[in-house]
Amino acid sequence: MWFSNQLLKWYGANKRSLPWRQTKDPYCIWISEVILQQTRVDQGLPYYESFLKKFPDIESLAAADEKEVLKSWQGLGYYTRARNLHFAAKTIIDSGGRFPETFEEIIKLKGIGEYTAAAISSICFSEPNAVIDGNVYRVLSRFNGLGVAIDSCKGKKLFSSIANDVMDKSNPGDYNQAIMEFGALQCKSSNPDCESCIIKSRCAAHETGTVDSYPVKTKKVKQRARYFNYIVIEGDRGCFYQKRSAKDIWQNMYEPLLIESNKHLGRNGILKSEEWLHVFGNQEDVKLVPSASLEHRLTHQTIKARFWKAQTNFCSMNTKSPLEEFAQEDLKEIPIPRLIEKYLELSG
Ligand code: SF4
Repeated sequence: MWFSNQLLKWYGANKRSLPWRQTKDPYCIWISEVILQQTRVDQGLPYYESFLKKFPDIESLAAADEKEVLKSWQGLGYYTRARNLHFAAKTIIDSGGRFPETFEEIIKLKGIGEYTAAAISSICFSEPNAVIDGNVYRVLSRFNGLGVAIDSCKGKKLFSSIANDVMDKSNPGDYNQAIMEFGALQCKSSNPDCESCIIKSRCAAHETGTVDSYPVKTKKVKQRARYFNYIVIEGDRGCFYQKRSAKDIWQNMYEPLLIESNKHLGRNGILKSEEWLHVFGNQEDVKLVPSASLEHRLTHQTIKARFWKAQTNFCSMNTKSPLEEFAQEDLKEIPIPRLIEKYLELSG
């Protein structure tokens, strides 16, 4: 109890005032938890506010068009999470509109894993389920001096058991928020503030001077490089974009004509590519001008993108091409990946 009491005391004195801490509405907590899984609080806050303004409840989210949901998520990344939120909202409405109230029911919703189910069930319904995220792993591994890898099966079980043992079961919602906030503000991954730490007298890592050794991980995230050659085709009214339909990153979002290759292509490589031939055939009267190069890192892959501007005779564009023309103002309404948004910012 000493550990949880200290964390709750620290939380009472140090917690940030955030909108999702003023409510126990499971819809709001759900949205905040999904946003915070992929971004820092200061970056996620404006997204939380604008998402709730646009979709204030489950009904409005379920009734929305997927395009609108993706547009509201634009810039946050991990778009599958937005699609899952939308899908799960429709499931809730189809089954009567009541948000499920137990961990077992909540985790059945599409896209909700153990972390989110534990967060919602503890914060909104006072169920004693410990959350385990990167902050919790860090605090528990340092405090207990645990060298078991957090990404191993053994480690996951061990940390789950310790997290549930040490939690304050009479106040699980605040306790869960306390340990995560403590990890985010005090026991940070680099430069933790050990000197002013309320639990340093019993912290194993502090005592042995091994704070930087925790948490332990076995696997390194492998980064795959992908080469995207984007052809930005400008028409009379605006720009030609296509919808990504494959089961890949950015599904259902829009982008200019894409030719993916093993390395960046030159003009000839572009004119001979399947994608180009499908849209323009063997046209030679094409002016391709290099426009910009950008690198965009995702969790497991780095996109090395090169943009070209194309000037051609658009009358001969294949009518079966997936490209659609969008006026500049309509471009603001369609969901586009952050990489394309960065390009648009750069090219004015
Ligand atoms: S003493 Fe340092 S390492 Fe230990 S819990 Fe406190 S901040 Fe974390």
